[in-house]
Amino acid sequence: MQTARTTEQWRELDAAHHLHPFTDPHSLNQQGARVITRGEGIHLWDSEGHKIIDGMAGLWCVNIGYGRKDLPEVARRQMEDLAYYNTFFKTTHPAVVELSHLLSEVAPEGFRHIFYTNSGSESVDTMMRMVRHFWAVQGKPEKKVLIGRWNGYHGSTIGGASLGGMTYMHEQGDLPIPGIEHVEQPWWYKYGKDMTPEEFGLAAARWVEDKILEVGPERVAAFVGEPIQGAGGVIIPPSTYWPEVERICRKYDVLLVADEVICGFGRTGEWFGQQTMGFRPDIFTTAKGLSSGYLPIGAVFVGDRVANVLVAGGDFNHGFTYSGHPVAAAVAHANVKALRDEGIVDRVKNETGPYMQERWRATFGNFDHVDDVRGVGLIQGFTLVRNKATHELFPEWGTAGTMCRDIFFENNLIMRACGDHIVAAPPLVITKAEIDEMLGVAGRCLERFEKVVREKGMAG
Ligand code: PLP
Repeated sequence: MQTARTTEQWRELDAAHHLHPFTDPHSLNQQGARVITRGEGIHLWDSEGHKIIDGMAGLWCVNIGYGRKDLPEVARRQMEDLAYYNTFFKTTHPAVVELSHLLSEVAPEGFRHIFYTNSGSESVDTMMRMVRHFWAVQGKPEKKVLIGRWNGYHGSTIGGASLGGMTYMHEQGDLPIPGIEHVEQPWWYKYGKDMTPEEFGLAAARWVEDKILEVGPERVAAFVGEPIQGAGGVIIPPSTYWPEVERICRKYDVLLVADEVICGFGRTGEWFGQQTMGFRPDIFTTAKGLSSGYLPIGAVFVGDRVANVLVAGGDFNHGFTYSGHPVAAAVAHANVKALRDEGIVDRVKNETGPYMQERWRATFGNFDHVDDVRGVGLIQGFTLVRNKATHELFPEWGTAGTMCRDIFFENNLIMRACGDHIVAAPPLVITKAEIDEMLGVAGRCLERFEKVVREKGMAG
């Protein structure tokens, strides 16, 4: 919606009436929000006409890029035919049937059943209720503890925020709820430098085993993790971690759940992060790239073991008015079909992903205050450090990250700071020339950042 107001007027109205997620209203209103008005491919424009490179695909979600003309057309046609009907009780509609069929084709083998939601948080909450229901209908209602990881992110609902390991979220609203446990994240740079990454991957997986034994396997319903932690700062576990976690979960008959809300739909160069990281979950949660953010929709993919129990288990008393919403389902279908048929996911795997990783390392590898330069497909990060030789982090976690992110933003590049991790996840349609453009700006911003670090005496 475009209205004829000035930037100042939008800012004033925004400050007067709009509470922003994860934002301190006071500091936002001092500066005024940047008003984003248009998008095309990997670029956004603000109300002052600045062209911005969106190195984050919105919130890791606009996989297919901005400004597609086919998706609004699909939405318009679906709204005309059937704007809404629900899938409760005994009705369905063509849009949700077609989407389910397509998703079962792109999913790894053995995932033939899908439950719809409106967001990643709802997918996570749905999964939490589903795994408890799975054990309860098999006569094991006491098997209900879910294990997540510190610094993992699983959304903002009470369930998702509890399962996530963001302590600053737990501090508000008396979280986590009972029945949730956490283990440490598989972050080699912080916890494992005295071992090889492979040894550390096995050691970090043993934290999961220790927690299962501490709680008692008969009480543990599932272990849940992002294949690659996104909001936690693009923490990529060593290759040994996930296969070992899978072995441990099987050993103790604990369900293994992948939260693919960020990794899903091509982000890592495969359709799903589990394929890149080499493990097979029992259930996985998705949202974001499912519709590339064109409309809100999420999906929980249920593997055969769990689906067989659910199908035989009677009513699952759970669902949303908009589960499988026809317009969102039709748009998601067109989006996933385009990601597949236009070879977008294949290109991330074979062309743009490898190119990004090579250029990312070449661009950032030689800065004094940048370490642990990492990435796969089109998800990447690095960590800002006080002293690279001694691997010393800055003393106040997050200050350097925010400073660096603000320099990007002032230079019309969006990358994100997760504490002192700087991360990027551009739309999957990014070209090699656009990767050069993005990293050219980012490199110049890092030079500026290091100058400020020196001037402020923050260097170690
Ligand atoms: N799970 C993961 C791994 C996420 O990264 C996110 C959001 O970033 C969520 C769940 C929550 O998704 P939403 O914000 O759509 O509720």
